[in-house]
Amino acid sequence: MASSAWNSRKGRSSSWIRVERRQAIYARDGGRCVYCRCDPWRGLTLDHVKPRNKGGSNESRNLVTCCYGCNSKRQHGSLRGFVLRIAEETEQDWRDIMARVSATRRRKLCSSTPGKSQTQSSRAADVSS
Ligand SMILES: [Zn+2]
Repeated sequence: MASSAWNSRKGRSSSWIRVERRQAIYARDGGRCVYCRCDPWRGLTLDHVKPRNKGGSNESRNLVTCCYGCNSKRQHGSLRGFVLRIAEETEQDWRDIMARVSATRRRKLCSSTPGKSQTQSSRAADVSS
């Protein structure tokens, strides 16, 4: 139905995602950049793990919290190349970063929507499937 949300010009505006959803993703990721783990002193943004111009979606599985620094370094580059670079700059093992990114993406958003149905949707069995 309402799919007009992201026809609006690409880039720039952040209207492609709702504020609540953006916040939920930040919360899921602990409010830190998944790549360099920096404190978000420069502010946070969202990164498409698979770039949109390569067919990546706007689903939370494809989005991770990222600082502005990393986001602007990555631009539309490949994840692999970018991670290698960040690993070197921050003296991390690139495999750790990759693992963190994929673990992060699999995590569920904590829906902070009180009210609605009180159904405990915590079927906590999605850890290892
Ligand atoms: Zn970063």
